[in-house]
Amino acid sequence: MRVVVYGAGQLAQMMYLAGSPLGIEVQAVDVNSDSVVHPVSKSTLDTTLAQAIEDADALTVEFEHVPERLLEEAAKTNKLMPNIDSILVGADRVREKKLLESMQVANCEHKIVTDLSQLDDCVKQLGSKLILKASRDGYDGYGQWRLTDEAELPALKRSLQGLDLVTVPLVVEKMVAFDRELSLIGVRNADGDVRTYPLAENLHHQGQLHVSVAPATNVDDALQAQAHDIFVKLADGMDYVGVLAVELFQVGNKLLVNELAPRVHNSGHWSQSGAVTSQFENHLRAVCGLPLGDTSAIGPSAMVNIIGCSSFSRDLLSIDGSHLHWYGKSVREKRKMGHINVTTNNYESLGEKLMALSNYLPLEYFPKLVGEATRLK
Ligand code: ATP
Ligand code: MG
Ligand code: MG
Repeated sequence: MRVVVYGAGQLAQMMYLAGSPLGIEVQAVDVNSDSVVHPVSKSTLDTTLAQAIEDADALTVEFEHVPERLLEEAAKTNKLMPNIDSILVGADRVREKKLLESMQVANCEHKIVTDLSQLDDCVKQLGSKLILKASRDGYDGYGQWRLTDEAELPALKRSLQGLDLVTVPLVVEKMVAFDRELSLIGVRNADGDVRTYPLAENLHHQGQLHVSVAPATNVDDALQAQAHDIFVKLADGMDYVGVLAVELFQVGNKLLVNELAPRVHNSGHWSQSGAVTSQFENHLRAVCGLPLGDTSAIGPSAMVNIIGCSSFSRDLLSIDGSHLHWYGKSVREKRKMGHINVTTNNYESLGEKLMALSNYLPLEYFPKLVGEATRLK
């Protein structure tokens, strides 16, 4: 079987690695050049995009910001999974909010802004602690602005003056004082079978995911069921096929949806060694019409992103239960270069392993690893 993935980054690479044992060949599309590349070496394959599409059993995406012309072309074949509407919901926060509202899924209080003068009303109705998000092309906290005090509003407006808000509106959200950030990764196939993973707890820094712990601690059956029900409502409602990630804020015992990612997700990387079936394998199983795999955790895991650096000691692999996944990209500030998964059999030991990990990573990792380690003990 063959699956063509739009996008040639680390997620396509990890799908390729998961597909090999199943005899599923994964090819990647570099959406900047429309060329078909090998997902690991990135060398151009001897085929055209049109031919690759024709030869594929399924077409899928590794990111939501694939140019619409490519998505439309892919959708015409009826092989695109998830479907184009689901991908566009993930790519456009206005569509995403409309979907959440229409399905009555709890989310952050918000307003859509198409003219800067509407920001005054936002402050009146939502308060002066706001997060402004460009409706398109944002990720890792890019394309976002924060207002913490009404007095800063004029300066904020000035800094936004060049934006064409009619074409790309802002979604203005009330800043939520959440207890913590969680995510639910789930998978649905064309028969409507659904499996969801245990909730992961996610630690973000400057809008970017740094550490996930899964299964999250202090999750009772009711909270996991609440997340599962949100997933089923959304995935059934969109007739979704593949892995879908739901980013959540926990406020008391209530879950609010922050955003959706119509693809495999960074907060699900722990499943590579911490779950019976990884999210990558399950995504391929779903889009290829194969039975879905067990999503149970085999023990508590942590996933630590390596961001913006490549100089660390591979000796970290001396920590039992640790695995390194390196993406082979050139170093840039804030760029996700790779990640480390650690799986063990209890949270205390997971905390100790995170502590040990801090010995091998650059100094700036120390506070977050020690923080997580202390929390888990
Ligand atoms: P991703 O890389 O996950 O796609 P993104 O750039 O699309 O990120 P969001 O997930 O919308 O951005 O926001 C990034 C982070 O900013 C969130 O994980 C959370 O920590 C914080 N954040 C976003 N919205 C809110 C909110 N309404 N209230 C409080 N914090 C928020
Ligand atoms: Mg996002
Ligand atoms: Mg996010």
